[in-house]
Amino acid sequence: MKHCSAILLLMLFLACYTFFACAPGESMGGDFDKGESNMEENAFFNGYLAARMGDLVYFTEEKPLNGGRRIYVYDSASGEVFPLCAKPDCTHDSGECRAAYPSAFGDLFMMPYGDRLYFLGDVERKEDKTYLRIYSQASDGSDRKIESKFKWELGSYVVSFVGIYDGIVYKLGSTIVIENGEQYEEISLCSQPLGEDGEVRELFRERVQDPEFMGAMRAGKLWFAVYDGDGNCIMHLYSYDTETDEINTEFEGKAPGYAFRMAALEDRLVFHEGRTVFAYSFEEKAFKEMLRSDDDQVIRYGGVMFEWTGRFDFRCYAEDGSLMHEGTLDEALFDGPPIKTYLGCINGKFCFLFECGGGDGENEGAHNYFVVYDSQTNTFSVPWDSDMK
Ligand SMILES: [Zn+2]
Repeated sequence: MKHCSAILLLMLFLACYTFFACAPGESMGGDFDKGESNMEENAFFNGYLAARMGDLVYFTEEKPLNGGRRIYVYDSASGEVFPLCAKPDCTHDSGECRAAYPSAFGDLFMMPYGDRLYFLGDVERKEDKTYLRIYSQASDGSDRKIESKFKWELGSYVVSFVGIYDGIVYKLGSTIVIENGEQYEEISLCSQPLGEDGEVRELFRERVQDPEFMGAMRAGKLWFAVYDGDGNCIMHLYSYDTETDEINTEFEGKAPGYAFRMAALEDRLVFHEGRTVFAYSFEEKAFKEMLRSDDDQVIRYGGVMFEWTGRFDFRCYAEDGSLMHEGTLDEALFDGPPIKTYLGCINGKFCFLFECGGGDGENEGAHNYFVVYDSQTNTFSVPWDSDMK
């Protein structure tokens, strides 16, 4: 599982390296009261690839088309999938389609904020400075506009989390710093108000060798966890309070395992997407292991837990770790062996993107499927594939 994360980070790193000599990478966030990006709903989503707003799940396809890739919407109530496009008579197959998005990275880092979808887009260079445009679009696919330009003078190769709270964008990322010929990696948290003239503030910076790190936000508080790169599960867990502007160390020491994503819930943080799922209780200020994979597989948490135990074999566990379901997905539904990408979980429905075929770096020729596992009914559905428009 270190594997997945490392590949993702490497891809980001390479993408960034290719597009700018020295720039950013990223991820997502939010919550409502102050008109902020909705992290409570999005606790179970991976902002790189997907985001939730109410019953709707936004996701992007892997397969490029003329003018870029598209944003799709899965309506979890009706089970339908459609492109995020309000252009009349659009055939959704050209760069003119409003669902096609401009992106510096390929992935989007989506942030539902208020009633609009925000995302990190393409790069603009002006007077020797590089900016990353933040776009927003109405939830029906209309009215796309540039909301802000994130200044990258704090240069970040990899962004692990981006969220908006009370009109301010927060970004957690890491940067390569070269000092006296030595190369170091530094993690930083910075903020910038939405709008053209917002000043970047650096809230946190720390040097760590080969770190794994992740962030999550809920109700004005941002948590971020950093593993030392020594393979001993030593975690530094920090919180940033947007009200008091304070950074606190919540925990330092050995965690029950490695996880690559965290969800911020009301009373705890849940760490998952590793071989161990574990929680950090705010009240007890301690970790508790929830589930460990017998087969060294990655486990995803979405209220209940899901594990692929083989190419098409799966298990689903209740919150207390007891087995709810196990079974096999019908492989005849797909063109071949899939690469499975986890997008997130909405009301107990685990959403995946399957990529079959393709093979070169551009994914040309790949056949993609949007696959949903409903843990309540123990059934799979495939409401979309890339042969559909
Ligand atoms: Zn269209």
